[in-house]
Amino acid sequence: MSAPDNLVACDKPALVIYGGTFDPVHFGHLRSAMEVGQALGAASVRLLPCYLPAHREATTSTAEQRLAMLRLAVRGVDYLEIDDRELVRKGYSYSVDTLKEIRHEVGPERSVSMVIGADAYMQLNTWHQWQKITQLAHLVVLERPGYAAGLVPPAIIDWVEDKLAVDPLCLAQQAAGLVCHLRLNQFEVSATKIRSIVLQQGTINYLLPSRVIEYINQQGLYQ
Ligand code: ATP
Repeated sequence: MSAPDNLVACDKPALVIYGGTFDPVHFGHLRSAMEVGQALGAASVRLLPCYLPAHREATTSTAEQRLAMLRLAVRGVDYLEIDDRELVRKGYSYSVDTLKEIRHEVGPERSVSMVIGADAYMQLNTWHQWQKITQLAHLVVLERPGYAAGLVPPAIIDWVEDKLAVDPLCLAQQAAGLVCHLRLNQFEVSATKIRSIVLQQGTINYLLPSRVIEYINQQGLYQ
């Protein structure tokens, strides 16, 4: 599968973007981000919190609180970085706008991959300018419990047919244009579950970094 015409192979390290609401960030995010980086042969992965998600309800904590929790979570971790551009930009966070900005910054040659969960992938055809995404970056789809290929809408199946890559290392060889499914270790935790445990005054120990738990308690989040 070759890159779109204006994008060619490059020897700069692959850039991997891992977006989410991170309300709060937890070990499911952190572990899978690390494993994606390893699978793609990337030196680091950028966690990119969204400001206003276009396809779900608003977040419970503020943008500042979500960013603070991310900073606590990655402190001292050299393979995870934070990109706060969507929080700075404000408004609806459309991936295509973010990828346009990033592509403009890194130039046409560098490999850029955007990681999304299979839950998000199954609704990809409802995203703003969704077909443009692979003109700007690769897509890495993380399989999650509940994902079934049979549930993917026909529009996505037709669109992805000539973009599928089996070997994740291929993604570093070209700038954009591929879609790769990854099955990682499944860590059964979600931000929804964490918020609901806090609401019921249960313990969230071992689901997320203790520094983030301290912050949640200190700020009285999710109660
Ligand atoms: P919520 O429960 O509020 O929907 P979430 O835990 O799914 O949140 P998000 O911030 O919405 O987290 O997700 C960011 C990305 O992380 C998505 O691509 C999502 O599929 C992925 N993700 C979330 N939890 C896990 C997990 N346990 N293992 C692997 N990937 C995960």
